[in-house]
Amino acid sequence: MAAKPAILAVDDDAPVLRAVERDLRGRYASEYRVIGAGSGNEALETVRELTRRGDPVALLVVDQRMPVMSGIELLRETLTLQPAAKRVLLTAYADTDVAIRAINDIGLDHYILKPWDPPEERLYPILDDLLSDWLAAFRPAFEGLRLLAGRWAPRGHAIRDFLTRNQVPYTWLDPTEGDGARIAESLEGGADAAAPVVLLPDGGVLRDPSNRDVADAVGLSTHPALPFYDLVIVGAGPAGLAAAVYGASEGLKTLLVEREAPGGQAGTTSRIENYLGFPAGLTGADLARRALAQARRLGAEILSSQDAAGILRADPYRTIVLGDGAELSCQAAVVATGVSYRRLEVPGADALSGAGVYYGAATTEALLYRDAEVGVIGSGNSAGQAAVHLARFASRVHVLVRGTGLAESMSAYLVEQIGALENVEVHTEASVAAVHGGDHLERATVDTRTGTVELPMAAAFVFIGQQPRTAWLEGVVARDDRGFVLTGTDVANGHGWNLDREPGLLEASMPGVFVAGDVRHRSIKRIASAVGEGAMAVALVHGYLAEL
Ligand SMILES: Cc1cc2nc3c(=O)[nH]c(=O)nc-3n(C[C@H](O)[C@H](O)[C@H](O)COP(=O)(O)OP(=O)(O)OC[C@H]3O[C@@H](n4cnc5c(N)ncnc54)[C@H](O)[C@@H]3O)c2cc1C
Repeated sequence: MAAKPAILAVDDDAPVLRAVERDLRGRYASEYRVIGAGSGNEALETVRELTRRGDPVALLVVDQRMPVMSGIELLRETLTLQPAAKRVLLTAYADTDVAIRAINDIGLDHYILKPWDPPEERLYPILDDLLSDWLAAFRPAFEGLRLLAGRWAPRGHAIRDFLTRNQVPYTWLDPTEGDGARIAESLEGGADAAAPVVLLPDGGVLRDPSNRDVADAVGLSTHPALPFYDLVIVGAGPAGLAAAVYGASEGLKTLLVEREAPGGQAGTTSRIENYLGFPAGLTGADLARRALAQARRLGAEILSSQDAAGILRADPYRTIVLGDGAELSCQAAVVATGVSYRRLEVPGADALSGAGVYYGAATTEALLYRDAEVGVIGSGNSAGQAAVHLARFASRVHVLVRGTGLAESMSAYLVEQIGALENVEVHTEASVAAVHGGDHLERATVDTRTGTVELPMAAAFVFIGQQPRTAWLEGVVARDDRGFVLTGTDVANGHGWNLDREPGLLEASMPGVFVAGDVRHRSIKRIASAVGEGAMAVALVHGYLAEL
């Protein structure tokens, strides 16, 4: 039987160590092994030993003030050994500044001021949250769903991304090596590295399945439960999830339709630093998981792997037409379909898409590129976050920037973090001219101010601007010349608006259709503003319904 994941408590003060161990065991002993260590060196040796044995460490709770090796020094040493472990520092009030700095320097997840009594209020809520985040990303070997796919198979990448972003635990195995090869051999007809096979816990086998097939098999709901809803929301990024939370909590029968995975762009982010209320930042996957759980708890229904293909007006109702032809009737709709990454248009990029060339998928794929050289193309915050995340795994990260520096387009905190990372190299005034490889990306040709260079590159993560996802709204609602949807005063004059009231603030040119988040003309492209607009859209829906 696999060993329980470990929680490590470290303090050089014996009575304090006993108290931490007692409190940790009191709550977590049934699920975790609580191990105590009386010094940084002893703790480091324990982490090394656990890592050698392949045993996961879920959480490190470490005192800052220890002789020889401080808490932060210890946590830094453990970063490469157990990168996924959550890190908590026990500090005195006087060390608060040190702890806040450590959030940036070593990715500290939280700090707790001593004493932490009562633990029910000051210790457990923080650790419960961190452990549930850790657990969501932790995949014990050979339990649950297994994906058999060649490392470079584009469909394999697409299914890995789909499962990860929908928070379905799975184990990925390469059919050409080790256990993967043994399982492939045991399958009737074998397994082809290019055509993924999904092995379900009940023994079922899906060969080269679509995302929709996988969604059906793992129990994600792909068909609506009701014939009619008060509110249908299209797109489950931060804007759509917020609308679902507010709609459902305020008594509207609410359905949320998502074609890929909840969380949208925010769900692909390795670290969100600027969302209010999370001082140590949080991953996009954690934000998406929490928001989804909240929307479900409040009664919203979520339809997965389904895309909206049109909206029909049948006053006073609106009908959302889905990609498979099904129709959903509702009183009002919120469009929150966000934006998607622009494609890299250079020779080789299309052929290698999903086989080394990835669009905004740095979190799903990062682990596969341990000790490899990778590229990040782009200079915005999303590129910066990806570079910082990848630097934890890759041997070298080449950041390719068209401009003369990062500061023009990236937040200062990220520029600072990148500057401090020895394995990140920023190439300015550089643009990719071509990418090369056989069945996977191997190198890139890069034009720079001083000439053309060839860079070894096992993966290129592309973050080069975005476009709205509104082709499906052509002829349905008015859009600007880039495709963003017009709302409020921008549709008031013309655009077919003929009611004797002004359109609501977030209302599109079709009455009863509201727009929230990045997809809206002139919106602020931030998580907080998308969440705010999702909440506002529901308030406007109430006003609209009251006047029907
Ligand atoms: C890598 C990265 C890092 C970022 N980091 C930060 C950050 O640190 N802080 C910050 O404030 N902002 C950040 N942003 C920006 C932020 O993520 C976006 O502003 C925010 O996600 C917009 O939310 P949204 O709900 O409007 O759209 P999106 O997040 O784009 O979500 C739209 C959703 O709609 C779905 N969809 C699209 N079309 C359809 C359809 N026809 N039918 C059904 N579903 C559909 C999509 O699959 C998607 O899930 C980052 C963005 C990226 C890409």
